[in-house]
Amino acid sequence: MEDCLFCKISKGEIPSTKVYEDDDFFAFKDINPVAPVHVLVVPKKHIANIASLTAEDADIAGKMLYAIQKVAHILDLDKDGYRVVFNTGEKAGQSVLHMHAHILGGKEMAWPGV
Ligand code: 5GP
Ligand code: ZN
Repeated sequence: MEDCLFCKISKGEIPSTKVYEDDDFFAFKDINPVAPVHVLVVPKKHIANIASLTAEDADIAGKMLYAIQKVAHILDLDKDGYRVVFNTGEKAGQSVLHMHAHILGGKEMAWPGV
């Protein structure tokens, strides 16, 4: 989608620190990390957020969890664990309308944290 920041990053049109890429997904370091490890995983297909998924997106949505697992492994987070966050919509604080998973790790995290 034109004028979408994460579409441009996933195409390499805007620079980022890439962590992982395959045919369907792109993962890169968050520019403003809130944890020692903070990486974003995005589908290359433009989907605004979980709320706008359609039945047609079910395959990519399922594959995204598996991509997140792979990225967490690359980041060496398997043993200690990690948090995965999908901010969805305005009140959840979603600022970029291209679906993305935050992978957060490298520190002890409290829960609930809302
Ligand atoms: P949201 O608030 O939509 O859940 O998350 C968007 C995330 O994208 C934020 O954590 C923000 O720091 C990150 N971000 C925004 N612009 C850029 C950018 O140009 N490059 C990178 N690497 N991250 C960005
Ligand atoms: Zn997009």
